[in-house]
Amino acid sequence: MTFAATILTLYPEMFPGPLGVSLAGRALEEGKWLLDTLPIRDFAADKHRTVDDTPAGGGAGMVLRVDVLAAAVDHALAAQPDSPILAMTPRGRPITQARIRQLAAGLGVIILCGRFEGFDERIFAGRAIEEVSVGDIVLSGGEPAALMVLDACIRLLPGVMGAPSSGAEESFEEGLLEYPHYTRPVEWEGRTIPEVLRSGDHAKIAAWRKQMAEDDTRLRRPDLWERHRDVRD
Ligand code: SAH
Repeated sequence: MTFAATILTLYPEMFPGPLGVSLAGRALEEGKWLLDTLPIRDFAADKHRTVDDTPAGGGAGMVLRVDVLAAAVDHALAAQPDSPILAMTPRGRPITQARIRQLAAGLGVIILCGRFEGFDERIFAGRAIEEVSVGDIVLSGGEPAALMVLDACIRLLPGVMGAPSSGAEESFEEGLLEYPHYTRPVEWEGRTIPEVLRSGDHAKIAAWRKQMAEDDTRLRRPDLWERHRDVRD
């Protein structure tokens, strides 16, 4: 089965966007993944095609209507009943590489992109939807978040990345950040590539890389380091 992505959005013209170039773009052309966009506005019931309304309780901004969202989600689900539905929201669980791996191994995803103040909360009670955040930042819409999640999935699909091993050593795959990289020139503004990387001693290089991955994770991401130690111990 080919990985199929369906995006529910008010701005279908944002897709494939950056996923139309480079690795993901070539893979899309080659049919290694499929992309469908469903304009949320198509599911509005009135003649003005209204998708939002003012927040109950007052306050600034507009909220996406639950009846419109449900109609869009149900339409996507009818075509793709076994795919998980992800809603992009800063209130969601932060996405992880482990979850991306699971998604990439599956049939595909349906991704719901918010706008304005976000979704009427009842959609999450009424439908099986996974709320996903791409980090503790606030975007103006769910589309860039959806592009991020999709990009991360697509690079893992069979035949998309050049060397199959290049995914395995990346940051997070072992619960650690990746070690630092260097390339020519050997000297730049008086700074040289670490001696060990030029030694040709593969065992020493592997040990150095492991050490650097651990040191950098401990210093830069104490949260990851704690988790890594808990899993290891
Ligand atoms: N009022 C909301 C923010 C709405 S931002 C709040 O404070 O929680 C508008 C839309 O952008 C959201 O509905 C969501 O789809 C998207 N968005 C913003 N930040 C995001 C993030 N960190 N992760 C995923 N989606 C995000």
